[in-house]
Amino acid sequence: MKIIKSLKSMRALAQQWRREAQKIVLVPTMGGLHEGHLSLIRRGRKAGDKLVVSIFVNPTQFGPREDYSRYPRTFTADKQKCREGGADVIFCPTAEAIYPDKFDTWVSPDVTGSILEGAARPTHFRGVCTIVLKLFNIVLPHTAVFGQKDYQQCLVVKRMVDDLNLPVRIIVSPIIRAADGLALSSRNAYLSPARRRTAGVIYRALCEAKKAIKDGKTQPALLTREVRKTIEGESEFQVEYVEFADPQTLKKQKTVQPPTVVLVAVRLGGIRFIDNLLIK
Ligand code: AMP
Repeated sequence: MKIIKSLKSMRALAQQWRREAQKIVLVPTMGGLHEGHLSLIRRGRKAGDKLVVSIFVNPTQFGPREDYSRYPRTFTADKQKCREGGADVIFCPTAEAIYPDKFDTWVSPDVTGSILEGAARPTHFRGVCTIVLKLFNIVLPHTAVFGQKDYQQCLVVKRMVDDLNLPVRIIVSPIIRAADGLALSSRNAYLSPARRRTAGVIYRALCEAKKAIKDGKTQPALLTREVRKTIEGESEFQVEYVEFADPQTLKKQKTVQPPTVVLVAVRLGGIRFIDNLLIK
């Protein structure tokens, strides 16, 4: 497995692979790798001939008061996971190389990027789309793998691929959860053991909402209230939003009916956690 920092070397290798008719797969990550990332890497391994895992904590998708400087950086352990998952290359550029001083061009999604996560984090998806497009242009993948854990991100990226006619196939890989249901996330490392023990309530509340919908409840206000009550009643997490939305457009459903996706963002000690459940 090669470790490549230089943008030029990465692109030269990708061009060589393309000349050899090798199918390139990219799994973009910010490191702090866990089993969720590993599932994407394994999925990526099967989707082509050459697998690149990028590890880049992208400063432009963090807001000014967010956790960029203390985001988990665990490169030694990450290398091991990438090797385990069968990566050919870890691409880990510096922030200075990706965003030189003169940098001045952004990709900014409009409607899909301004609701839900985009409303809470106004420049987030601009940062995401810009880095994803840059990675596509450097790594030249035929296929890229993203996690359903970041449901809105998947839609935003797919929208960008369609809108900008990018020749990249997007694979969405399922959410990997801990035994108590908590979606694995690099940010779970911030939780104290006591708080971590209560965090399974987030997924439990989503499952209860699914059951309520299957039982015929359709009123978003009522369903939302129940999710909030469960999470806030049984943990210190504060619910920022709960929304029942159309899985394709993320438009709020006035009457909740499958297919629907329930999306939730909670907060604790200045850190946000997101989760979702697709109800077919
Ligand atoms: P991140 O490093 O948090 O930017 O995540 C990199 C990729 O891994 C994104 O496509 C995420 O959606 C995906 N991912 C993160 N956590 C999980 C999880 N628990 N299950 C599946 N995919 C995940």
